[in-house]
Amino acid sequence: MKMTRKQQDDFIAQCRAAGLSVTHQRLAIFEAVMANGNRHPSAEVIYQTVRERYPTISFNTIYKNLETFEELGIVVKVNPLYNEARYDVDVRPHHHLICRQCKTIVDVHDKKLDALPAPEEAGGGFQVENWTVQFTGLCAECQPVAVG
Ligand SMILES: [Zn+2]
Ligand SMILES: [Zn+2]
Repeated sequence: MKMTRKQQDDFIAQCRAAGLSVTHQRLAIFEAVMANGNRHPSAEVIYQTVRERYPTISFNTIYKNLETFEELGIVVKVNPLYNEARYDVDVRPHHHLICRQCKTIVDVHDKKLDALPAPEEAGGGFQVENWTVQFTGLCAECQPVAVG
């Protein structure tokens, strides 16, 4: 996923609206998230990508920026099913297939899942605003080969 001019403009606008200065490093971090978008990259993956251009950048800088992006709604943190948070550039509601072995996360867009009825518990004063369905299991490549 290569960043388009519009995505860059939107990013700059979102930063400015939040009173955040747009530095080259900050832009590079956002670019790295976009470039790895399909993989739902971890902070570590983003760090490795940005380091190719900014060898002196620290992991902490990457991490803090990702947290800020999340607060601004620029990225969404995928439910940290494993210890490591993964970042999603697709901030629209959608669902995930997660392989428990190789930790691949695949986006699922499904109108039926988007229209799930609120659970009964939600009647007791809880206002549901959003939900993500996570299907966990083994992807095709991680499934053991059937013997016999
Ligand atoms: Zn897998
Ligand atoms: Zn996703």
